[in-house]
Amino acid sequence: EPALILEGIEKSYNHGKPNEINVLRGASARIERGEIVGLIAPSGAGKSTLLQIAGLLDTADAGQVEIGGRLVTGASDRARTAARRGQVGFVYQFHHLLPEFSAVENIVLPQLAHGVSSAEAEARALDLLGRVGMEARAAHRPGELSGGEQQRVAFCRSLANSPTLMLADEPTGNLDPTTSDTVFDVLMELVRSTGLSALIATHNHELARRMDRVLKLEEGVLIPA
Ligand code: ADP
Ligand code: ADP
Repeated sequence: EPALILEGIEKSYNHGKPNEINVLRGASARIERGEIVGLIAPSGAGKSTLLQIAGLLDTADAGQVEIGGRLVTGASDRARTAARRGQVGFVYQFHHLLPEFSAVENIVLPQLAHGVSSAEAEARALDLLGRVGMEARAAHRPGELSGGEQQRVAFCRSLANSPTLMLADEPTGNLDPTTSDTVFDVLMELVRSTGLSALIATHNHELARRMDRVLKLEEGVLIPA
């Protein structure tokens, strides 16, 4: 079954008020396993809202979300949390790494929270860091790493619990163009080598072309770009 199905997703803010805004108006998409899909949207179009709903962090007003063949729309907060765990990995524009922990610890901690043994968690963390060329930086804290290096660690952390789907919101958006280019390649290679499916939002049309296909969020619906 597909990694992600969004069917007729609707979302408004400020219901019934003069400033009501209909952000999503029936957005639908289907991401197959192993597919990397780009998401292009002008600022304010609802890209973050869509990713939050797709990743079960927020609920839609209408429509359905299916992750890995599991229908999760309308489920309780608890059921959504359960469905999200180990299924979805998030990457944001800013790394949100814990500053007082090393790179490897930042990737170990989410695994410990899932009941993985520390030996196993550390082995996985080091393997992931190796895939993004960061093995030698494993003991460094985020503050000792460059912006691009911090994002590489954040990519690894998002995969700590072996999700099937990565949702990324401008994953290289805070990096200078040259670093962004390199780090984006690292992300693509990481996603491809792990066989993950991904929905990656970017403003950068050049980067979007490196994905399998691109969707555009326009007037609340998703259309092929
Ligand atoms: P994007 O990520 O494409 O910039 P967002 O999904 O963040 O867009 O926001 C889409 C629109 O919805 C924007 O106009 C934003 O101001 C509005 N919006 C987002 N979140 C809320 C909220 N919690 N309450 C009210 N309006 C919101
Ligand atoms: P870039 O130019 O790629 O953004 P920086 O100038 O921030 O990178 O850092 C260059 C290198 O120095 C990086 O490999 C980074 O890990 C290392 N580095 C930066 N700040 C520190 C620090 N406070 N302690 C140790 N290493 C650091």
